[in-house]
Amino acid sequence: MALLNILVYPDPRLRQRAAPVDSVDDSVRKIIDDMAQTMYAAPGIGLAATQVNIHRRIIVADVSQEKNDLRALINPTICDQFGETETEEGCLSLPGITLPVMRSESVTVHAQDQYGNSFDMVADGILAVCIQHEIDHLDGKVMVDYLSRLKRDRLRKRILREQREGSITAVEETATVS
Ligand code: ZN
Repeated sequence: MALLNILVYPDPRLRQRAAPVDSVDDSVRKIIDDMAQTMYAAPGIGLAATQVNIHRRIIVADVSQEKNDLRALINPTICDQFGETETEEGCLSLPGITLPVMRSESVTVHAQDQYGNSFDMVADGILAVCIQHEIDHLDGKVMVDYLSRLKRDRLRKRILREQREGSITAVEETATVS
């Protein structure tokens, strides 16, 4: 297994739409293993392949306290949804930022597992929110897209400024060491 590099907003690669997985083989299972390890290490409760620059429709999630309930969803689609709920969401591609996002309270998801078997799953609570968030990533959507344009632009500028300042610090530290 390997830890994968997580893309950080506003990286344009987060906007790429992921392609469906045609056959679930060992290479797909390897991606799932690496994604799971990356998600647990972050730590996070969900990760979409898009976030690790793999543009295929694969997500992993584990919303359990004990971190022993890993779910891998390949080619997930939402076929039914109920209710509305607003949750303060975080995202591994937006470190340090949480935003309130309105989503369906409960969803029925059709997907394939890591062995290629199709299944339907009813998810509610935090798992429902997580799956909707991750499917958004596969479609090139990031949670800031739920903000008004004004708020999104403001946040984008703030993040870019912080990233710039962060990289300047890093360069200076390297210089000191060498
Ligand atoms: Zn995310």
